Amino acid sequence: MGLIETSQDTMPRAADPLSLGEIVENGLCIGCGLCRSIAGAGEIEMVMTPAGRERPVARQVFDEETLMRINAVCPGTRIAGPPPAQMSEAALTDTVWGPAERLVLGRAGDATVRFVGSGGGVLTALGQFLLSSGRVKFVLHVAASHSEPMRSERRLSFDAASMLEGAGSRYGPAATLVDFCDILDRGEPFALIAKPCDVTAVRNLARLDPRVDRYMRYALAFVCGGASDLSKSEQVLQRFGLAEDELALFRYRGHGNPGLNRMETRDGRAFELTYRQLWEDEDKWMIQPRCKICPDAIGQVADIAVSDAWLNGGPAAEDEPLNGIIVRTGRGLELFDSAVEAGALEIKRETGIAEISELQSHQVRKRRAVWARLKGMAIAGKPVPFVTDLALEDCAVQNSLAENLAEGRGAQDRARRGRLGEPPAVPRESKAVQSC
Ligand SMILES: Cc1cc2nc3c(=O)[nH]c(=O)nc-3n(C[C@H](O)[C@H](O)[C@H](O)COP(=O)(O)OP(=O)(O)OC[C@H]3O[C@@H](n4cnc5c(N)ncnc54)[C@H](O)[C@@H]3O)c2cc1C
Ligand code: SF4
Ligand code: SF4
Repeated sequence: MGLIETSQDTMPRAADPLSLGEIVENGLCIGCGLCRSIAGAGEIEMVMTPAGRERPVARQVFDEETLMRINAVCPGTRIAGPPPAQMSEAALTDTVWGPAERLVLGRAGDATVRFVGSGGGVLTALGQFLLSSGRVKFVLHVAASHSEPMRSERRLSFDAASMLEGAGSRYGPAATLVDFCDILDRGEPFALIAKPCDVTAVRNLARLDPRVDRYMRYALAFVCGGASDLSKSEQVLQRFGLAEDELALFRYRGHGNPGLNRMETRDGRAFELTYRQLWEDEDKWMIQPRCKICPDAIGQVADIAVSDAWLNGGPAAEDEPLNGIIVRTGRGLELFDSAVEAGALEIKRETGIAEISELQSHQVRKRRAVWARLKGMAIAGKPVPFVTDLALEDCAVQNSLAENLAEGRGAQDRARRGRLGEPPAVPRESKAVQSC
């Protein structure tokens, strides 16, 4: 695979488009499903792999033009930050945190949304407000599958009740964009609430398809520490001796902040773990490879990015419902102000970069580490995403030379040993996750 050195803020990129297999096997795929949607009916199938990842499998060998199109939109191969004009015009810009019009700690105005939502219910409240104010016809987000409640699937919500049903964090795989082109075909204004990499993918598509900017009026993201494999959730079931087909409910969190990981069976039994019990052992987080090199897990290309805000450095048993809210664009600011005025959101107080960095110190560490990690992968001869306008090198400068060398050498070593890649995508069972 040839690699081209590009300008100062960009990383080396593959000279030729990568095949779907190369994207997956080099650990660049996050399973968003957008390639399936743009390739057209029947060309790509999303499967659940033995490791518990949703991955695309091509049903035929694609020509170069199709591969170029997939590489242009895939958030594993192309990751662009906010346009430079937005950076220069924003009320506030920070090397690590990107552009911000306003930084606030807040929560949903409605008590039920506050309780049911993952942190303070801000994203659900914003989705409901977008619908009730007539700004959009529907919201594309993610919710638990009705038939398989441990699985997550893309949801179109047309009313407040459906938004509330999708509240909460779905840490396992979720192919949010699996039929995104069909959603554009509806020709109706909508909003996206999703992971930062999902927003990256649709911003990529916007460069090729003008309907994205015409119909997708808002893109809201949560600040994201990484998506885990389904196997992580399966380990939880094993702990209680449960089988997936016994489940009537699998909730990762919410119903409190953070709330409990709760399972209910069809025959009426219930099982719970605290957030700390669920995530206590970092070796068992089972975070997907793409997340370890994520240049924008903080939603720089969203209109508003929403985070947890545990003021004591981590969740106590139960915290007050609260979110960090990073309003990034003028459009996001108009939405935020209107939602506050309508009572959909409540402001606790203004915050700033220093406090957000303290609350999200793992995100600061990752932003500073990614440039060296990508360099290490490239030196190991692995393809890396084409990254622009995300100030990765400037973030790395905030690390010492020794830290950068350690990150780079560590990534190089892991890449050489295949630990940043993954096996070819095959289904774990004959059933496809989402048939074409
Ligand atoms: C995989 C993952 C990793 C996260 N890591 C961090 C972190 O490092 N730091 C941090 O501050 N917060 C993190 N969060 C976000 C946090 O858990 C809250 O979701 C966020 O603060 C928003 O809270 P809320 O109360 O506004 O959310 P809610 O009002 O409950 O709304 C959440 C919205 O996100 C959508 N959603 C949930 N899961 C997914 C998914 N997998 N893909 C696409 N959309 C989804 C839901 O449909 C819903 O609309 C993570 C969430 C997830 C799912
Ligand atoms: S990240 Fe999305 S677009 Fe890229 S290969 Fe995976 S599923 Fe396809
Ligand atoms: S860490 Fe990055 S790649 Fe992983 S799920 Fe979050 S936004 Fe996507």
